[in-house]
Amino acid sequence: MFNMKVVETTALNPETKFKFRCHKGVKCFTKCCSNIDIMLTPYDVLRLKNRLGISSSEFLDEYTMMRVDDKSSHPYAYLKMGDNEERTCPFLLGPEEGCSVYTDRPVSCRYYPIGQGTVKKREGEEMEIVYEEFYFFTREKHCLGYEEDTEWTVQSWREDQDSAGYDEMNRGWMEVLMRRNLPGKPGLDQKKQTQFFMASYDLDRFRRYIFESKFLDVFDVSDEEIAKMKEDDAALMKFAFRYIKFLMMMEESLKLKKGVLPENPKPGK
Ligand code: SF4
Ligand code: SF4
Repeated sequence: MFNMKVVETTALNPETKFKFRCHKGVKCFTKCCSNIDIMLTPYDVLRLKNRLGISSSEFLDEYTMMRVDDKSSHPYAYLKMGDNEERTCPFLLGPEEGCSVYTDRPVSCRYYPIGQGTVKKREGEEMEIVYEEFYFFTREKHCLGYEEDTEWTVQSWREDQDSAGYDEMNRGWMEVLMRRNLPGKPGLDQKKQTQFFMASYDLDRFRRYIFESKFLDVFDVSDEEIAKMKEDDAALMKFAFRYIKFLMMMEESLKLKKGVLPENPKPGK
């Protein structure tokens, strides 16, 4: 997330101890809120656009820029930093005041100085795919938080940073992030990239796509699930991840309604 960072490659476990404290009294206060690249998760966008009281489309237009990842051809939303020399975060109130969206800050700000990753493994006789989370330290020269005396474990830090809701929502997204272009094959075409971006980040537009198009005539979605998605943004977002996996042919995560596709002619007929 931050420039000049040193990422320690040793994977940490939830009980790993470290000393750290970030508060208004540290000399480096808010130094980490400039000259950075922050890739947003879909849940970051949901929390921030609700915090600002604007639609997801307005948030994306105003506060983000899109970059296409080389390895996956996925389009990702990054926070658009200020047009000044320091590239200051738009949510930084000032060097004394700190973050204006603190309780809804993006997950990478929340976890810092811990970084989070996911590995994909195969387990059991069926060689089932499982995703496992891991943690590591990121250290930057300017960050003096490591000189403070408050002791944490990775687990107690996560609890202190109120990351449980973020972790729960980001799980499905991390699985999507691990998809790569097939070797020797072209990446996603523009139509798929547009769908990917909408389903990932533009939840208000995705809601219209589900409920105001022929989507529900084509896909087999239960009434219970439809009712949940109508009243709960988190349920709609989890459905969006299933839609992305279907679109990317990662999993048969959605089913088409019977009769949508012509049945294969039977042999001999
Ligand atoms: S969102 Fe808040 S914590 Fe994160 S970089 Fe911006 S000002 Fe700093
Ligand atoms: S202690 Fe580290 S995380 Fe806290 S303000 Fe300073 S640089 Fe940022």
